[in-house]
Amino acid sequence: MRHEIRNRKEHIVDLSASERIVIVGAGQAAAQACASLRQYGFAGDLALIGEEPELPYQRPPLSKAYMKGELAKERLYFKPMDWYRAQSVDLKLETRVNALDRSACRVLLENEETLSYDALILATGSRPRTLPLAGAGLANVFDLRTLGDVEGVRPHMRAGCRLVIIGAGYIGLEAAAVARQLGLKVTVLEMADRVLARVTSPVMSAFYEAEHLRQGVDIRTSVRVTGLTGGSSVQSVVLDDGTEIPADVVLAGIGIVPNVELAEASGLGCSNGVLVDRDTRTQDERIFAVGDCACRPLVHYGRRGRLESVHNAIEQGKLAAAAIMGKPRPVEDCPWFWSDQYDLKLQIAGLSEGYDTLVVRGDPGERKFAVFYLKAGRLLAVDAVNSAPEFLASKKLIVSGASLAPDTLRDTTQSMKEIAAAAA
Ligand SMILES: Cc1cc2nc3c(=O)[nH]c(=O)nc-3n(C[C@H](O)[C@H](O)[C@H](O)COP(=O)(O)OP(=O)(O)OC[C@H]3O[C@@H](n4cnc5c(N)ncnc54)[C@H](O)[C@@H]3O)c2cc1C
Repeated sequence: MRHEIRNRKEHIVDLSASERIVIVGAGQAAAQACASLRQYGFAGDLALIGEEPELPYQRPPLSKAYMKGELAKERLYFKPMDWYRAQSVDLKLETRVNALDRSACRVLLENEETLSYDALILATGSRPRTLPLAGAGLANVFDLRTLGDVEGVRPHMRAGCRLVIIGAGYIGLEAAAVARQLGLKVTVLEMADRVLARVTSPVMSAFYEAEHLRQGVDIRTSVRVTGLTGGSSVQSVVLDDGTEIPADVVLAGIGIVPNVELAEASGLGCSNGVLVDRDTRTQDERIFAVGDCACRPLVHYGRRGRLESVHNAIEQGKLAAAAIMGKPRPVEDCPWFWSDQYDLKLQIAGLSEGYDTLVVRGDPGERKFAVFYLKAGRLLAVDAVNSAPEFLASKKLIVSGASLAPDTLRDTTQSMKEIAAAAA
């Protein structure tokens, strides 16, 4: 049987079943690419190389059910070890890839081993932005990216413990919600003048800020952290006005940066992520990049961007496998994301950047509403709180490029299904 790496611009590189595909990074996108390659019938050597000591696992529960102690560790793994054995996947954990040698088509591992490839998938993800502060290296100061990070934090998740979270993005606020539910004293510090400022509208920020205040979180916006004090472990967080906030444990959630160094050092184009086409192919026809590390065409928005979500990692893992195996390109959905805080299930479809009209459907006071973002009448995105029908209908409407009147969206006497059917 023969497989081909098929460039949809008609260029074809042959790849026989006896040849090898190497996937670097063993996270969400890598695990998907690996499973999809076997599903598409790739019968050659398949190596999956990840620097973490764990089998590929899901990250979302790390700031939700797993952090709260409500999910067993085994439930985080996508597949058990037996699956990788049965699929003849050469899984190399705790192994870092140090460099790519594109001219020789091989990767160099930190143990000085080399592995040749016929196709290479970069699924290196992203890493937390580090706190550029004195005291950031003290004990009990944690990032929130890996299972290892959460294993470090979990012993502190007990009533009365003083937790300071730096950064009020989704992950910081999810951790705050879990901590309050477990009875910790929680302070959230945010440099911007509102929570979730980078990712959503002032309406949503105000709703979430009010909810956390109501739940007893001490939220402070427009504050600048200048350092952390302590002996061996952290004792307080210091603000630029001299305020000292006592802390037993600190969580930093100040954003992530894509892991593009391997690609960059080997001369591949990068700009806020490894630049890829719709098939996740980089400038090198044998190399693909997927997930958090890739800057991709956003087909429903006519621009490029880097997405940090499970949906994106899964979609791109499938796109890469399909392109390598010469299969039809899977349908590209609009980007989507979710966040769980207290009893609030937030589901986000689309990208709201650039909206000119904002419409609120439902009543935030009832903890069940949706905020729609439109540009020149066209639906760009929705933030749906405890409102699955609004989320599901919007996904379809965004993909179809539908235009909707604000009054129609506001009208709760019509179901979202009816509104979507009329707009189709
Ligand atoms: C706490 C938390 C909560 C989240 N919640 C949500 C959510 O609710 N909804 C949602 O949609 N998304 C959520 N996300 C985001 C989502 O998990 C990520 O977008 C997704 O994991 C990205 O997958 P990835 O495979 O691109 O990267 P990753 O999952 O980060 O995997 C990349 C892997 O590659 C490894 N690696 C990097 N460089 C090398 C190298 N040189 N050699 C070997 N290995 C290497 C890394 O160590 C890592 O294990 C959350 C993320 C976190 C951290």
